[in-house]
Amino acid sequence: GQQFEQLAGVVKWDAQGLVPAIVQDAASKEVLMLAYMNRESLKLTLESGETWFWSRSRSELWHKGATSGHTQKVRSLRYDCDGDTLLVTVDQTGPACHTGKYSCFYNEAAATGDSSSAEAGSAGEGRFGILAKLEATIAQRDAERPEGAYTTYLFEKGVDKILKKVGEEAAEVIIAAKNRSRDELRYEASDLIFHLMVLLREQRLPLDDVLAELGRRHAAKPTPE
Ligand code: AMP
Ligand code: ZN
Ligand code: ZN
Ligand code: ZN
Repeated sequence: GQQFEQLAGVVKWDAQGLVPAIVQDAASKEVLMLAYMNRESLKLTLESGETWFWSRSRSELWHKGATSGHTQKVRSLRYDCDGDTLLVTVDQTGPACHTGKYSCFYNEAAATGDSSSAEAGSAGEGRFGILAKLEATIAQRDAERPEGAYTTYLFEKGVDKILKKVGEEAAEVIIAAKNRSRDELRYEASDLIFHLMVLLREQRLPLDDVLAELGRRHAAKPTPE
């Protein structure tokens, strides 16, 4: 109602009464797709909490996932500086693209040095950049479920299997540490972090939220007792 009227007022609708909406995975930060909304689809999106667009090719309202089941639960919706673009962050179910790809942006048109940018759009650089890349790859596996991939196997088995693995790998970390074997510990710590990140994806908890929590604790306790 009021939220829609306020938003519809600030949005710069184009000549066709449309506004482009960028859809981003709220957890992995991957850019998933671009589609257009008209007033009605924006209203339906706000009311239902799932994305609705205007299909320009079919000239009809389009509830994303209505036929594929790959719906998008809206986590946040914002507009840009001049109101001509929307950014919707979502909990994506399955692939966002009708080709079965996690993201529509899987075509690498120009390489810029970051060879994995299509897969890991938000992958950070530096010492822990691998965690961002791993988060993006896990999200992709979750969406596309490629045959033969171990991560696919974990998601297919479900949360109980993932929880069991986290427990097992934690125990293996303990054994490695007890053995005073740094090689074994490096290996088992990697297993634990990987399975923990699969769990975070299954729960749709962004790694950023975990890092932010650590940051808050660090800020609150500059000198631990
Ligand atoms: P869905 O909304 O996922 O049930 O898909 C229904 C139809 O919408 C598909 O057959 C495509 O024509 C179209 N479609 C779905 N996802 C996309 C997308 N990411 N980009 C463009 N068209 C799409
Ligand atoms: Zn703009
Ligand atoms: Zn697509
Ligand atoms: Zn292990």
